Amino acid sequence: MVRLLLIDANARMSGKRLTTLDVIGAGPRYVLSVLRRHGIDAVLEPYENVVTSKGLKDFDVLAVSFMISDVEAVRKLISWWKRRKPDGIVMLGGPGALSPNILEKLDFDLAIVGECELVVPEIVKKGVFEDRSRLDDLIGLKGVAVKLKGKVFWGGLAPWTPREVMEQYMPDTDSVAKYPFYWACRVYVEVVRGCSNFRRAKLYRECDLCNICRQGPLDARLRCPRNVAPGCGYCSVPSVHGPPRSRSIESIVSEVEKLLELGVTRIVLSAPDFLDYGRDLLVHPHPLTDPREPPPNIDVIEKLLSKLSALEPVLEGVACISIENVKPCLVNEYVAEVLGKYLKGTVVYIGLESGSDELLDRVGRPCSVSEAIRCIELLKKYGLRPYVYLMHGIPTETDDDVKKTVELVDLLEKIGVERIVLYRFRPLPFSAFEKAELPPPAIAKPSTRELYERVRKFNEARKRELLNRVIRAVIASSYPKKRGYVVAYPLLHGPTIVIRASRNYIGAVVDVKIVKVVSDRLVEGMLLRVRKRIVRIEKYARDISMR
Ligand code: SF4
Repeated sequence: MVRLLLIDANARMSGKRLTTLDVIGAGPRYVLSVLRRHGIDAVLEPYENVVTSKGLKDFDVLAVSFMISDVEAVRKLISWWKRRKPDGIVMLGGPGALSPNILEKLDFDLAIVGECELVVPEIVKKGVFEDRSRLDDLIGLKGVAVKLKGKVFWGGLAPWTPREVMEQYMPDTDSVAKYPFYWACRVYVEVVRGCSNFRRAKLYRECDLCNICRQGPLDARLRCPRNVAPGCGYCSVPSVHGPPRSRSIESIVSEVEKLLELGVTRIVLSAPDFLDYGRDLLVHPHPLTDPREPPPNIDVIEKLLSKLSALEPVLEGVACISIENVKPCLVNEYVAEVLGKYLKGTVVYIGLESGSDELLDRVGRPCSVSEAIRCIELLKKYGLRPYVYLMHGIPTETDDDVKKTVELVDLLEKIGVERIVLYRFRPLPFSAFEKAELPPPAIAKPSTRELYERVRKFNEARKRELLNRVIRAVIASSYPKKRGYVVAYPLLHGPTIVIRASRNYIGAVVDVKIVKVVSDRLVEGMLLRVRKRIVRIEKYARDISMR
């Protein structure tokens, strides 16, 4: 049987994670299940375990899941692999493998471009993993790129996996225990794949304003007569993953149960828009390509959230369920009330992107600024904690658009947004703006520098409001920069906390009082009480050394 080593290199940049250290994504666990189902003896390891371990057994294939920003980490990994296994096959996948430029730079044999469920069985059937001379047979296969003698042969994007096929796989859960301090990590559980926004950006000459993508029948919105990629111009989710497909409640609950049994404490229900969950069922058999109509399938959402909230560790208050993102145009009073009933105190991300309605319309966003403000107010009213995304450098953005965003920050402060994440536009493959220029960093231009500074001050001020608050947190590890301190993550999400405490508390859920704001991202806390020990560090250390 073919032995395959699957490495999660997502967010490892040039070999080390600098941000979001506490995230375990859903993708690699899903791919692992698909590979195993098709007869591959696959093992999943996070990047750091492999580059520091000499004891890994021999494998025939190296598979790497990565993002565009992780090229250097992947390059190091491949050269590590080639030194040990010069003839071993290298297979790439994940968002990084969508970029032709990146694939040109890397030394690989084959890459999965897009979703894997329909592609993996074809690769296995061709016998490529047993015999690399069969790589030729993959040329032209949809969803596969092959590199032969330095030349990349593109097969295009993989087909979107139908819901019934997705449903055949249960993402692996045991591998989560291999990640550093997994008990304190946000573990993402996919609930919806794909996005309902099939509107398109109006920016380019290609669009002749036929309006099919905004008002046409659901099926017609899938294709644009001028081939403009669907969705917000800066996003590739609708192209790569298609319209939303929801997983069944049984499958999600079963995955979450297994993760909680393992000692995971922070579950994030992952979806480009959580409110699309079950909304696809309302228009079946048509694709859900309208981001605004019908309204959320609140009965199905409530059924899912009530089952998850009834799981013992969640009821006990030592584990938490939260959601990832919502589209403002789908939030109304009733939706906010239901979310508040089950998700009180948790963070929810809202993509606002800009304070300029004109810009939002040009890029194909389905929601206006006022809808986003209303959504934030409603979510706050029902006890959720909105975090907002803003973006700078979007194609055609003017200084006036940026000025409106700066002014909007005052309003966000007033209505109680807890954190703003400002990020720079990046042209993504398979998005409408894939050929746009990468803009300069925010500090390089007076208008965006002003926005950057305003957001920085906003976030600092919000952190100061945490002083003297008591927060429930999970202790993850020792703090390498200060002896006698440990690092903890808030159970319900928030800034990283350092606490003066014995490392014996690692693996415990605790209550901490915030006593100092160290920086924009870090606060200091005082340990008040231990709620529960989730993982015993001695046991964890022993398990790690046995691998
Ligand atoms: S993006 Fe395409 S479908 Fe949408 S209005 Fe323009 S031409 Fe029509």
